[in-house]
Amino acid sequence: MSILREMTGKVWDLIVVGGGLTGVAAAVAARREGLDVLIVEKAGFLGGAPGTLLINPFMPYATTVDGKRFELSRGFFTELRGLLKEAGGYVDGREDIHEEYVKLVLDRLVWKEGIQPLFHAVLCGVEQEGEHLTAVRVVTKAGILTFRGRYFIDASGDAALAVMAGCPYHLGRPDGLCQPMTLCFRIGNVDISTFQKHRQEMQEKYKQFQAEGKIKNPREDVLIFHTLVDGVLHFNTTRVVKHDPTDPFDVTEAEMIAREQMFEMYDFLKNNCPGFEHSQLLYSAGEIGARESRMIDGEYLLTETDLRDCVQFEDAIAAGNYDIDIHNPEGSGTSHYYFPEGTWYTIPYRSLQPRGADNLLVAGRCISSTHEAQASYRIMPIVVTLGQAAGTAVALAARDDIGVKEIDVRKLQETLVQNGAFIGI
Ligand SMILES: Cc1cc2nc3c(=O)[nH]c(=O)nc-3n(C[C@H](O)[C@H](O)[C@H](O)COP(=O)(O)OP(=O)(O)OC[C@H]3O[C@@H](n4cnc5c(N)ncnc54)[C@H](O)[C@@H]3O)c2cc1C
Repeated sequence: MSILREMTGKVWDLIVVGGGLTGVAAAVAARREGLDVLIVEKAGFLGGAPGTLLINPFMPYATTVDGKRFELSRGFFTELRGLLKEAGGYVDGREDIHEEYVKLVLDRLVWKEGIQPLFHAVLCGVEQEGEHLTAVRVVTKAGILTFRGRYFIDASGDAALAVMAGCPYHLGRPDGLCQPMTLCFRIGNVDISTFQKHRQEMQEKYKQFQAEGKIKNPREDVLIFHTLVDGVLHFNTTRVVKHDPTDPFDVTEAEMIAREQMFEMYDFLKNNCPGFEHSQLLYSAGEIGARESRMIDGEYLLTETDLRDCVQFEDAIAAGNYDIDIHNPEGSGTSHYYFPEGTWYTIPYRSLQPRGADNLLVAGRCISSTHEAQASYRIMPIVVTLGQAAGTAVALAARDDIGVKEIDVRKLQETLVQNGAFIGI
């Protein structure tokens, strides 16, 4: 039998849509509980944002308890950091990650675990009987393929599967605006120590050029990170506002605007800023990054108040304390709410449960929450913990052949903790 016929002919225990960090975490957790798992991914690699959008580094995921560092994102996230470090794509403390190593370690991991990835496969349809999903359809080079499954996890970032299945959702803020989109890029051959010495001066010059109309990018400053490669800096600084990340024409225009901003920034740095005299523009991401798009209206809508109050949900499955970091959806400015040291919020299992589906969970940046809450939990360390929780929950449901909302949440929490996770309560 051809491999294609074998893969399309069977009923998978779990189909994960989206092979980003969330999707891989979900797949690994479910596989380790014995499930047969397929990941469908539109790119040609696993890991999502680091590879597709050039996202780097891991944002902060720890606080201080009794004077000691206390990590809030653990479990599979700790394992992932270990794998990356061993391969040479991550350095403890710096939190910079190298996207090529992310791709490599995840290839090796799914291979070792016996998870089936399918690259260059874009979700284009769903089959369902009422609230029960039975199959997904994906566009591939071999045409449209149908894969049948018992359970499904939507780790697409955009809630693509949940929306196709008719589950309720919202886009961004109540007025429909989302956080800005950003095309990340890299500049090489930078004299890093000279750049560091003149960093503040560069920021002041940027503001001056903006005031004089020489820089069109509405972002208030230049957002730069180091990388693991000598002389190479990472730029997370283009800003395109008032474009809908789920409207393909808006995304097309946003990418063209962001590309202009990238060249504007490079010219500014090269011609005006010490350290960049011999610099070279290297490359931009393959697609513009959406910090936020659709979020499901699930069984519980996580809010800013829940986060600020550090609510300890009874059905908590993850914890976080990254600041509520809102890049202004309308133009210049970024607002922050920082959590007091030693505190964290929790994320309830109900926020991963879409309404209107009994064998589907949603994980990653599109769980059920408001714009403000999403601005905190959307970072890579936290979405990985959501993926692990979703995969573990599906495994428990599959064992008893029940709906994902019917599982024993205590058992889910116990299993997560046994597997190294911190759930915050
Ligand atoms: C510009 C920007 C800067 C950021 N900076 C940081 C940072 O510095 N540090 C940090 O920790 N976080 C950062 N974040 C946030 C973080 O990167 C993301 O929120 C997080 O990685 C989302 O993970 P995810 O798995 O939910 O989605 P993704 O990583 O986007 O994964 C979703 C996967 O699903 C696939 N997919 C999507 N649709 C389909 C479909 N229809 N069919 C098949 N496959 C599909 C995609 O190709 C992708 O691989 C940033 C985000 C952006 C956009």
